[in-house]
Amino acid sequence: MKIGIDAGGTLIKLVILDDENRTFKKYPSTDIDQVIEILNNDYSEEEVYLTGGKSEYIQEKLNFESKISIEFDATFRGLTQLLNESNLNFERYVYLNVGTGTSFHQATTTDQKRVGGSGVGGGTLLGLSHLLTGIEDYHTIIERAKKGDRNKVDLKVHHIYNGKPTPIPGDLTASNFGNVLNHKSDQSIEDQLIAVIGLVAETVTAMALNLADAFDTKKMVFIGSTLLDNTVMTDIIYNYSQLKGAEAYVVPNGEFSGALGAIETN
Ligand code: ADP
Ligand code: MG
Repeated sequence: MKIGIDAGGTLIKLVILDDENRTFKKYPSTDIDQVIEILNNDYSEEEVYLTGGKSEYIQEKLNFESKISIEFDATFRGLTQLLNESNLNFERYVYLNVGTGTSFHQATTTDQKRVGGSGVGGGTLLGLSHLLTGIEDYHTIIERAKKGDRNKVDLKVHHIYNGKPTPIPGDLTASNFGNVLNHKSDQSIEDQLIAVIGLVAETVTAMALNLADAFDTKKMVFIGSTLLDNTVMTDIIYNYSQLKGAEAYVVPNGEFSGALGAIETN
């Protein structure tokens, strides 16, 4: 048995390889000490591979040997494997890891280069949602956001041009939250939540589009737990990308790229 662990800022992702079986698990990073206890009690005979910001903390507390790999290398290895399994064979692409924060990468079939990052990510989604609505549960945020309407929160290009011809598609967001003052106290919790997700989704997509353009590709891959069961976010990513003539891909189990790629298979 081999266990790959990506211990991130919000979630600890585990991939367990047992003969032909592959199991994925997730724990909140706040439960890190319980995860360490489980590993020490039940998995001390196994090969454990670590990556992510909290990997050294785990390694110090394990009472058996483990190996650490560099997060960006591990994530690229895991992502390459997941892309292959999905028959997505891209010569040149960009990928964004939308975790607690977001990191951007330009990649070929053999290499990746980290080209930047942004503090806007899944942590922003949770934090702003909580500040605005008091809700902090990820799945509740997504479910309620599905019933929201962005029109009373966000200012679209067509709102500004007000029926006149627009130089860019009228449906593009001109200003996230820019319509709030025109509809004071008129936004439901659902409207606020979908607007928060819109802000995060459009920010990372705008960055991906620029990055892809500079790297001479149309292919943009999105990974990270922020996309998990989050059709509100992925719909916005797909639509915005399409509007700009780019192709967005959300890889199944992409949030486990780091944990999967941390495992040495030979
Ligand atoms: P990191 O590697 O930084 O921990 P992830 O890729 O795991 O980041 O993404 C974390 C984000 O995923 C959170 O900020 C949140 O928006 C979202 N998320 C998805 N599922 C959950 C969950 N069960 N609990 C908390 N956040 C979740
Ligand atoms: Mg991460």
